[in-house]
Amino acid sequence: MDTDVLIVGGGIAGAATARELARAGIDALLIEQATLNAGASGANAGSLHAQIPHPEFVSLGEDWARAYAPTIALKQASLALWHELGAELGPDLEVATKGGLLVAAHAGQMRDIARKGAIERAAGLAVEMLSRTELLRLAPYLAEDVGGGAVCPVEGKANPLRATPALARAAVAAGARIRQGVALLAIERRAGGGFIAQTSQGPVRAGRIVNAAGANAAAVARMLGVPLPLEGFPIQVNVTERAAPFMDHLVYYASGRLSLKQAQNGTLLIGGGWPAARDAASGRLSLLPQSVAGNLAVASAVVPAIAPLRLVRSWPALVNGTADWKPVLGEVPGVPGFYIAVFPWMGFTGGPIVGRILAELIAGRDPGFDLRPFSPARYAHSPVAA
Ligand SMILES: Cc1cc2nc3c(=O)[nH]c(=O)nc-3n(C[C@H](O)[C@H](O)[C@H](O)COP(=O)(O)OP(=O)(O)OC[C@H]3O[C@@H](n4cnc5c(N)ncnc54)[C@H](O)[C@@H]3O)c2cc1C
Repeated sequence: MDTDVLIVGGGIAGAATARELARAGIDALLIEQATLNAGASGANAGSLHAQIPHPEFVSLGEDWARAYAPTIALKQASLALWHELGAELGPDLEVATKGGLLVAAHAGQMRDIARKGAIERAAGLAVEMLSRTELLRLAPYLAEDVGGGAVCPVEGKANPLRATPALARAAVAAGARIRQGVALLAIERRAGGGFIAQTSQGPVRAGRIVNAAGANAAAVARMLGVPLPLEGFPIQVNVTERAAPFMDHLVYYASGRLSLKQAQNGTLLIGGGWPAARDAASGRLSLLPQSVAGNLAVASAVVPAIAPLRLVRSWPALVNGTADWKPVLGEVPGVPGFYIAVFPWMGFTGGPIVGRILAELIAGRDPGFDLRPFSPARYAHSPVAA
């Protein structure tokens, strides 16, 4: 299993990186401890985001939002890649970008939405304020008493059950190797450069390693004594029975956590980062009934047609989260050949650009972005996770 580049993690970040490396003619082996798409990439709500998340804008403030704003360029570039992937890998990915609507519950919230929009526009994102009348004209399915909102035309959705497997198939077709059921256990640095990765299937010699282990990326970084203050946060998503198509936007709410969209098969995906539970001893995830109820109540308040629909399924999963919400991308200073490929919180959206950037860096080319805000160097003085 020796390789030039060993990619750890078979989620969207790892699969996209494998595909890009193989297309660049670089030898790549991806190992996944479980099965492809077993982590957040196959359990997320399928939103393709571009805007600054509203709840965090309100709770963390404008300074945080300005520091986060360079991430918008990455998300926009990723959205462009999503369209290319949709065209190349087929309609199964269900890539559609009919716009994201941030809905205010009352006129008093329009000020926050406008302040956020100003930061987004300064970062190059098209965001347009909408009066209540304009919003209801665009989205007649919204509750009549909404207070107005904003539209971000580039946002949308894709199918998380299909995207990573499709990227992985494309990676293999381009020459990458993928091994499922292979866990990385430890990493040693070799004297002359490169690494020996100890895996559950034996040692692998690798010239470079890409840490695309999602919520487990801090543990993989720790194998080399590298600090990466990233955690897995348990959150949950709900899906309803099918309904005739009536909404094609991605909908957010300024008065409660919500990401809402109708999938191509008619089901409504209702999420927004509501907490799930994790058993401290076993690590086992379970649903929080109050999160299910709260999330559905918010969704029905914004889109009344949801209220009579039956809930078909709810599930918890771990999202990879960093405190500053910014991606962590690039080679770790002082550990040549060890790369981090983490797009937290909204990493389904970010997967394609993570793969492109990592492959460009590994190929020694300019990825075309100022990556300083996303450098692993920002954690140089953080403690290594216990
Ligand atoms: C419920 C939920 C809803 C979400 N909704 C959205 C959304 O709508 N839009 C959006 O953009 N983002 C969303 N996200 C976030 C998004 O899903 C993640 O940020 C993204 O999928 C992370 O991709 P990844 O490839 O980095 O990690 P993952 O998909 O978690 O993949 C990492 C893989 O690494 C493997 N691994 C870990 N350690 C090892 C090891 N030692 N050896 C081998 N393999 C290892 C794991 O088994 C896993 O398969 C959501 C997340 C959750 C949980």
